[in-house]
Amino acid sequence: MNEKWDWNDWKAQFRNRIQTVDALKNYIELNPDEEEAIKKSEGLYRWAVTPYYASLMDKTDPNCPIRLQALPAADELIVNQFSDVDPVGDMKYRVTNRIVHKYSDRIVLLVTEQCSVYCRHCTRKYHTTDVNGSYFEKQEAESFEEDFKYISEHPEIRDVLLTGGDPLTYSDSKLEHIISRLRSIPHVEIIRIGSRYPVLLPQRITKEFCEMLEKYHPVWLNTHFNHPKEITEESAKACNLLLKHGVPVQNQSVLLKGINDDLETMRELLHGLLKIRVRPYYLYHCDNVTGVSHFMTTLEKGIEILRGLVGHTTGFAIPTYVITTINGKIPISIDNIIDYSEKGLTLQSYQGKKTYIPYLKPEEVLGSQL
Ligand SMILES: *Cc1c(COP(=O)(O)O)cnc(C)c1O
Ligand code: SF4
Repeated sequence: MNEKWDWNDWKAQFRNRIQTVDALKNYIELNPDEEEAIKKSEGLYRWAVTPYYASLMDKTDPNCPIRLQALPAADELIVNQFSDVDPVGDMKYRVTNRIVHKYSDRIVLLVTEQCSVYCRHCTRKYHTTDVNGSYFEKQEAESFEEDFKYISEHPEIRDVLLTGGDPLTYSDSKLEHIISRLRSIPHVEIIRIGSRYPVLLPQRITKEFCEMLEKYHPVWLNTHFNHPKEITEESAKACNLLLKHGVPVQNQSVLLKGINDDLETMRELLHGLLKIRVRPYYLYHCDNVTGVSHFMTTLEKGIEILRGLVGHTTGFAIPTYVITTINGKIPISIDNIIDYSEKGLTLQSYQGKKTYIPYLKPEEVLGSQL
């Protein structure tokens, strides 16, 4: 390829994101179905791929896990009758333009709607990828003052999680403004950043960025690797730089059909993460988010993978398998299943709330066409 720009400059990577079929053809051989799906999603779901992430795609295989995560698919346009744009009820817990206050001592701060790549399986697909959707109560451009004020007035909040979209889409100076304001609130003990940049655009993790974070410790970063192919020299370098500056890096994967829903792939991913010193934190059961249903696996599948790991590998290689519900995240282990019927599972949340989770039958995965 003939780039006239600096491959290692993250802003240039961002500016040169692939957003047309023609540009994509510089990287891969698109098959007619993929091309058709991209056309059909126009006006409904946005897509964009960083040149770096596109360079990881298999040239010819449409089932490549990188392609499946980044390129619109026809299945996205099929609406599952049980799906919801916000199945875990984040908007029920929204208290300001940007804050979701679901747990008493920690909050989510939705910094932006923008990302470097629009992951097809995003749990906030309505907020990030849906052309007409947003979780913001007002606008993204709205000032953060009411959010800062809310946190200041709630001394129980000791943990603030910056997410989005992807907060690292913002410049270092914009982020520093937010982080320094949070750090000036005495009861905020830890600041967490949820970002997929180490995976999708690792060049974003610069020395300057890490030095900025270091001033506001304790700062933690949770990223999102889903497949061993994503562990590259560049992504390892990004994680290493964060670690060197004292930012612990953890990983949150989503269990995705056709991408990582087999024991061998999952084991390779987890072992790969340990090799780059990234600690597996959560493995999310895929939520039934509108436009994401085709990635859902069964809970049995997740439990089967878990059984293949526990005892068979390093204890801290094993993430906590969780399902997100209206009552918070519930870890799935054989210990908290209260009732196991043909129709679904009843699990107990951390507060002892009984939560019923129906199984999806294969025929229910194919709902009506948009
Ligand atoms: C996941 C999540 C958190 C953080 O939960 P941890 O289990 O502490 O990682 C906080 N608020 C909301 C709304 C969440 O979804
Ligand atoms: S980077 Fe994160 S927030 Fe953005 S689309 Fe991907 S999963 Fe969603």
